[in-house]
Amino acid sequence: MRQNDPCDQGNEAPQAAACDAAVDAVTPMMAQYLAAKAEHPECLLFYRMGDFYEMFFEDAVAAAQALDITLTKRGRHQGQDIPMCGVPAHSHEAYLQRLIRHGFKVAICEQREDPADARKRAGKTLVRREVVRVVTAGTVTEDTLLEARRPNHLAAVAEAGGASGLAWLDVSTGALQTQPLTADELPGALARLEPSELLAPETLSGQPVLADWRSCLTPLPASRFDSINAKRRLEQLFNVGTLEGFGAFSRAEIAAAGALVDYVALTQRGRLPRLSPPVRFADASLMQIDAATRRNLELTRTQAGSSRGSLLDVIDRTLTGAGGRLLLARVVAPSADPAEIDRRLDAVQFFVEDEQARTDLRSHLRRFPDLERVLSRLSLGRGGPRDLAAVRDGLALVPALRSVLAGAGLAMPPASLAATAARLAEHSGLVERLRQALVEEPPVLARDGGFIAAGFASALDDLRHLRDEGRTLIAELQARYCAETGLSALKIRHNNLLGYFVEIPARLAEKLPAAPHGPFIHRQTMANAMRFATVELSDLEGRIARAAEQAVSLELGLFEELVATVMGEADGIADVATAVAALDVAAGFAELAVVARYVRPAVDDSLAFAIEGGRHPVVETALQRQEAQPFVSNECALEGERRLWLLTGPNMAGKSTFLRQNALIAVLAQVGSFVPASAARIGVVDRLFSRVGAADDLARGRSTFMVEMVETAAILNQAGPRALVILDEIGRGTATFDGLSIAWAVIEHLHAVNRCRGLFATHYHELTALAARLDALACYTMRVKEWAGDVVFLHEVAAGAADRSYGIHVARLAGLPAAVIGRAEAVLQSLERDERSSAMARLADDLPLFAAAAARLPEAAAGAGPALPPQVIEILATVQPDALTPRAALEILYRLRELMATPEGNAPSAGRTIAANSPV
Ligand code: ATP
Repeated sequence: MRQNDPCDQGNEAPQAAACDAAVDAVTPMMAQYLAAKAEHPECLLFYRMGDFYEMFFEDAVAAAQALDITLTKRGRHQGQDIPMCGVPAHSHEAYLQRLIRHGFKVAICEQREDPADARKRAGKTLVRREVVRVVTAGTVTEDTLLEARRPNHLAAVAEAGGASGLAWLDVSTGALQTQPLTADELPGALARLEPSELLAPETLSGQPVLADWRSCLTPLPASRFDSINAKRRLEQLFNVGTLEGFGAFSRAEIAAAGALVDYVALTQRGRLPRLSPPVRFADASLMQIDAATRRNLELTRTQAGSSRGSLLDVIDRTLTGAGGRLLLARVVAPSADPAEIDRRLDAVQFFVEDEQARTDLRSHLRRFPDLERVLSRLSLGRGGPRDLAAVRDGLALVPALRSVLAGAGLAMPPASLAATAARLAEHSGLVERLRQALVEEPPVLARDGGFIAAGFASALDDLRHLRDEGRTLIAELQARYCAETGLSALKIRHNNLLGYFVEIPARLAEKLPAAPHGPFIHRQTMANAMRFATVELSDLEGRIARAAEQAVSLELGLFEELVATVMGEADGIADVATAVAALDVAAGFAELAVVARYVRPAVDDSLAFAIEGGRHPVVETALQRQEAQPFVSNECALEGERRLWLLTGPNMAGKSTFLRQNALIAVLAQVGSFVPASAARIGVVDRLFSRVGAADDLARGRSTFMVEMVETAAILNQAGPRALVILDEIGRGTATFDGLSIAWAVIEHLHAVNRCRGLFATHYHELTALAARLDALACYTMRVKEWAGDVVFLHEVAAGAADRSYGIHVARLAGLPAAVIGRAEAVLQSLERDERSSAMARLADDLPLFAAAAARLPEAAAGAGPALPPQVIEILATVQPDALTPRAALEILYRLRELMATPEGNAPSAGRTIAANSPV
């Protein structure tokens, strides 16, 4: 029967009267429920009743809605019906998962004794219950609640000594890290970590800097972030006199790490997972990528939030969960240390060159279990026999992995792989013991037994023999009694009153050696039969009845012993897991390089950025999937005289794709992957910025343009010569001239002050004039072909500037009504006329040479009067004054005067440009 009413005490303690009376009196069970709930007010309380976890009151209302399950009303409390809903205990994990995803925390309140034992207590029949665990998004360890290929970070931010510190922990693997940072750096660090739960002191939790993380924020009293207590806690935990041996941590980092450890202990009711000592995050040797750039480049998720279609999705060929997580960790924090990058690339190259090694390794990895998570579950007492089998099976593969790396193949493994191989200890003793101890495919849960192999423990074998072969044993005993007494009519029978007994026909009774002369003790005389007991039989009966129970408890004891043995070698096993993850990433990158034709980049200390035949990894894959036209590769050389590229070109020509592909190539190279190009040399990038000039952030109350400007400000304030800056259409979110002016000034600033490498895509063709004045700015354009009134996008980047945007053409392709297209074309013509006139005035401001000419045409500049002759406008718009020789300048002046004086000045001159020395 499902016990699902806190007022209906069922077997425990009938209290119906109190419920029905709807009075203030609280039933014992309700009192127990309310006490447990009061200890965990922030959680939904899963209250165990028989085979169900029940929820009551507002918990039930919230959970029923989140889980889409029926809300019932049973019993009354303080004059009100009690809302209630429940989930079956055997399938509760699926419900837990959904609740956690909805942002709930769940306290699991278990029955802590057998209802039969409760009944034995005089007076009190309420089963003892207590909260055994609080399940929160950041502290789960079950595979069903975790994503195999993503870490599950629990993070904490703290302030101490006037500085901030961040610490994070993956409870599912035990990795603990810290980072000192400023408030400005916090959003970038959190975007990198994507914590599923963030702990912060109440005083900080309302700060705008944490706004993006409000849904996963757990505010805690400031006292939990005390750095002195934290230090003591950590020293105790890691059994050291000082933490300095692990690194020089700031007080804020220690406070954050201490808060994390405390919180985990609290949610696990005192148990802690196996934690590695804290490691300070090596921020300085990493490529800095802020939150906006991450979003923009879709490194691990698309802008819509899906992992499909992200860079990670396209490049991930790893085969193990730990490999997938390591890859993600590297993608979100590429290295900025050329030596480290080279070490990673060496390993990839080995597996590119030695196909046999790659294939062999990957065939082993396919079967390699997730030992990091297994260890964490076992250490928290939440593991099962299958976790032990995973340790056995994983470690059993180690010799095979070592022989792959022993250089038996074509290439000699590089030093970086030798270091990895050194971490692959064989643990053969443990493997052998687990092999002997466990059945081949053990069950998930220990509680029902059946996982210890036959022959491992003779006591267990005996118990199982008894349990399974009870009938046979009785039959054997009966046969023996028959033989010993010579009475073939002797039978062993069973009934509920006597249990097992020996029965013989009454007429043969005196032939039986009854006590005290023999073992048979008289129990019952029937009309034509006599019944006897023997010590041996009742002993056998007792043993059969207890055997199943004892077998399970013996197995549980052996399970604990085996877990302890495994945990005794946990550090070495964790090392194996780490090494396997690194091998998986290296071999995965090699597979990618071979299949997708990537090449090894050269990453050094120079300021080069030279990509030949570069491709966009994600767009290329998408085009392949659609079996569309092949991706067109392009060069990109940002160095010296051409450090900044200004890219113009029609809509849909591929500007954004080109910009991003270069940023992604830099990321991939520094992650330690080969890159989608035919050759690449990259002077290590210390900061990467990518901005697109249109992204609303209405949730944070910022308009499109405000976001764009905030992000641009961050770049101008932070980018140095080692930075790579990608700006896509900056300034387009405001009025044309405002936008143009801002874009103009931004380029000048990047050129003169930041002096970084950069790609700048724009529709403001006017900006190309800057190339004449800024040494390191070069103009490039996306080539198109106009053919039979149509436009063909070639997706090729070429030196030069575009003269048109073809926006209306794209609008036509998109299916705008013909009338709208026709009208847009007319408006465009008119606007272009006006713009040419006003361009004259702008140039006049900038270039005094033409001031006089502009002054003569005030109506034209205002767009109200007759237009300037088109040839004049064209000359003025394209002339590069700084590049002209005095003689060429003079000639232009004569030519302009001539055109202004003659009516033929109105005749268009197709396709002329005015270059440095060209006579006009
Ligand atoms: P807009 O100015 O409208 O933002 P854009 O010039 O930035 O356009 P993209 O968005 O980069 O253009 O590219 C448009 C589409 O063209 C892409 O979705 C892709 O399908 C295709 N494309 C871009 N670059 C290439 C390339 N190098 N080879 C093949 N196809 C490409």
